[in-house]
Amino acid sequence: MATQVNPPRGMRDFLPAEKKRREHVLSVIRSVYEAHGFEEIETPVMEDSERLHAGLGGDNEKLAFGVMKRGLTADDLSSATESLDLVDLGLRFDLTVPLARFYASHRAELPTVFRSIQIASVWRAERPQKGRYRQFIQADIDIIGEPGALAEIELMTATGATLSALGLTGWTIRVNDRRLLFGMLEALGFDPADYDSALITIDKLDKIGQGGVVAELREKGLPGDALETFFRRPQTMEFLPFGERAIAKALPAGVDPVAIAELAAIGLAVDEGKGAPVVQFDPFLVRGMGYYTGTIFEIAHPSSTSALGGGGRYDGMIGRFLGTDVPAAGFSIGFERIVDLLELPDDTTTDAVALLYDADVEFPTLMALKAGLIAEGKRVRLEKAPRNVKPLLAQLAASGYGSVASVKADTTGTGDLAFRPLGS
Ligand code: AMP
Repeated sequence: MATQVNPPRGMRDFLPAEKKRREHVLSVIRSVYEAHGFEEIETPVMEDSERLHAGLGGDNEKLAFGVMKRGLTADDLSSATESLDLVDLGLRFDLTVPLARFYASHRAELPTVFRSIQIASVWRAERPQKGRYRQFIQADIDIIGEPGALAEIELMTATGATLSALGLTGWTIRVNDRRLLFGMLEALGFDPADYDSALITIDKLDKIGQGGVVAELREKGLPGDALETFFRRPQTMEFLPFGERAIAKALPAGVDPVAIAELAAIGLAVDEGKGAPVVQFDPFLVRGMGYYTGTIFEIAHPSSTSALGGGGRYDGMIGRFLGTDVPAAGFSIGFERIVDLLELPDDTTTDAVALLYDADVEFPTLMALKAGLIAEGKRVRLEKAPRNVKPLLAQLAASGYGSVASVKADTTGTGDLAFRPLGS
């Protein structure tokens, strides 16, 4: 009986055409980020379990796949009090924790301000659904060692340039600052001890709406009424055009003017020279990760209810591994969602040729023909000529082969080949 042979749940195989599409998108991302002065690094797929569970990954820590210690005895298994006692390694659930570890390991070899690119798979034990996988690629850029707003400006500019280079239009970058969120909560009468709990609820605004947020805050015994009154101010739910006055207007009176001015300066610098503004202030943008300390941002697109990427400033994180605080900020592109949105042109290339050889052609002849064509810069596929050639020609055309020639027993050199175009 035939059994189904599938990859693990939430993980995928990619056929050649899809793999090619993905690699094309990755190469555009890499080249734009490099043009903006970032350098690519690589870290192992696993990190020490202790590091993955140091409290820096927020809820994602719970989704980490662990790797069991080798050589465990029955005694070890029975004396373990929790599953983490049995693991010493885990698959990375994001690229930020590995980057912080990488920086702590290699600081002496890196420039004072280090601009990194990391593009790699991460793993999360999610419940798989459309657009939500257990293995997926993230494309991150980070700037470590730059305390000033130039870091955020460069990150947003480079990410925006990448989206444009991929031909994506209609996206915006929503921004906020953790300090403005705290300022808003303070002005509305929340107790600092409740800020984290309040922000977890406000983070659900897109999903449960204003009414849901207010109700949940009340259930938690927090001042939902104050937020309800604030929601009623008509301008607060519009993502206003950028500027210091617009930001101040969208917040309760008395929120830190320095943080407002800094955020306005970032948005104006990113928008500089663009035809239409791309940065929008969103007073309710929270972003789940607890490690953010200042600016936070997300890519919004009308065809996707969830963000296409996000990031922010996380000044305290490197210090957790290094012992000394180093300022840092990063932007992560949700590669899988962007790949799904893009329509890429067919990749037919006249440089790719197929040779259909008869069964009686000698192997050395085939190899000599192939080598000759490769030396001319062509991509060459050998195919034994089938009785019915039509399906093969269709498959070759779908794989991007531009032309085909037959090889007979009396073919001696590439000059004898008569190429006919494919797929047109
Ligand atoms: P996060 O590290 O959770 O902030 O996620 C960064 C980006 O990765 C998000 O903006 C998503 O686009 C993408 N992402 C997160 N989880 C998944 C998943 N399970 N499958 C595919 N993409 C994801």
